[in-house]
Amino acid sequence: MRAFNEARYVASIGKLSQLPAEGPPEIAFCGRSNVGKSSAINALTGRKRLAFTSKTPGRTQTINFFDVGEGVRLADLPGYGFARVPQSVRAQWDRLVGGYLSCRASLAALVIIMDARRPFTEHDVRMLDWAQPLDRPVLVLLSKADKLSKRERSAALAQARATFAARHLAGEVRLFSSVTRESVDEVRALLAEWVDTWGAGHTNKKTPGKGE
Ligand code: GDP
Repeated sequence: MRAFNEARYVASIGKLSQLPAEGPPEIAFCGRSNVGKSSAINALTGRKRLAFTSKTPGRTQTINFFDVGEGVRLADLPGYGFARVPQSVRAQWDRLVGGYLSCRASLAALVIIMDARRPFTEHDVRMLDWAQPLDRPVLVLLSKADKLSKRERSAALAQARATFAARHLAGEVRLFSSVTRESVDEVRALLAEWVDTWGAGHTNKKTPGKGE
């Protein structure tokens, strides 16, 4: 099984022209800003400060790439859903993230992090709409699950699973907490399995590199 450790910074890009060459299978992480995406990446990779958050709207428009363990790359996509950002910043986000998702041959899976207390916001749903045609498995993590009571947890999970199923996406929904580390090991194992499955289907296919 592939390990999610030994994380190594690869690149930060603000323009599609700066994308690193296609390489190992990539898992893209996205979510509304402040949803706990950086904390989730840090928990999953076992690193304290691998992924940083910028709390300044408009200053988070980069995709950050990290290699983790053997042959897996994480792509930390810029957060979405800032309340007051200029239209130009939104348009730049759309170009960068939309362009990355639609062109990236190495993309193996997508992780969409949503707040367990308020999942499927308008922005989250838009992200799912973008994910739909990609034909990659999607993992929805309901973050900050430690803030829910036992009853709220089951209700949130059941409702999120129903909403996810109704959209006919391949993938799974899990409660997640970086604080209690709930689901950390399961998510690592699941993503490793998806990457292996993806890798098995692509070993004999040539993936287009930059400039080809
Ligand atoms: P990002 O903007 O999506 O990268 O979010 P961060 O990882 O920076 O987290 C935003 C805030 O939520 C921070 O104050 C974190 O301490 C807090 N946070 C993140 N994950 C959790 C979690 O699982 N449980 C709780 N209770 N708080 C969390």
